[in-house]
Amino acid sequence: MEKIAIFPGSFDPYTNGHHDIVCRGLKIFDKIIIAIGYNSQKERYFDIDKMKSLISSSFTMKDSVEVIEYNQLTATLAKKHGAAYLLRGLRNTTDFEYENSISQVNRYLNEDLETVFLITSPDFAFISSSIIREVHKYGGDITRFLPYQI
Ligand code: ADP
Repeated sequence: MEKIAIFPGSFDPYTNGHHDIVCRGLKIFDKIIIAIGYNSQKERYFDIDKMKSLISSSFTMKDSVEVIEYNQLTATLAKKHGAAYLLRGLRNTTDFEYENSISQVNRYLNEDLETVFLITSPDFAFISSSIIREVHKYGGDITRFLPYQI
């Protein structure tokens, strides 16, 4: 059976830290669906359609990666796509506290769903989408934090 994982997140923007998690995840899973959570109440900094195509352009293995947007429970989305795994990245204990609770809730909502955590590579541990947004907002160069050209 094909091992499919969902990698959910805001990806505002998708960074080298996220990319590293997906590339390492592809050694474990046959297919990874990068799912951009979309909330109509919350304005994004980077346009979602643009981000979708920029993420896709970061991969040459097009068959094993799909980029979608979603606006529903991640546990429901996983069922819909036949994904038995949720992929998440961990940078620090703050991530752990948050991810621990989400993982328990997702397990409750879909008991067949297993969350798999990959620890960030030291080179990317300091990268967060919110810091990158801030740097970009004030005119700083963010190209070295991203796996594509904007
Ligand atoms: P969310 O809003 O769900 O936290 P993000 O886009 O910020 O969405 O992150 C998606 C996932 O990627 C989360 O599991 C987060 O911990 C992980 N992540 C974010 N930045 C990094 C990084 N630099 N290294 C490893 N994992 C990361």
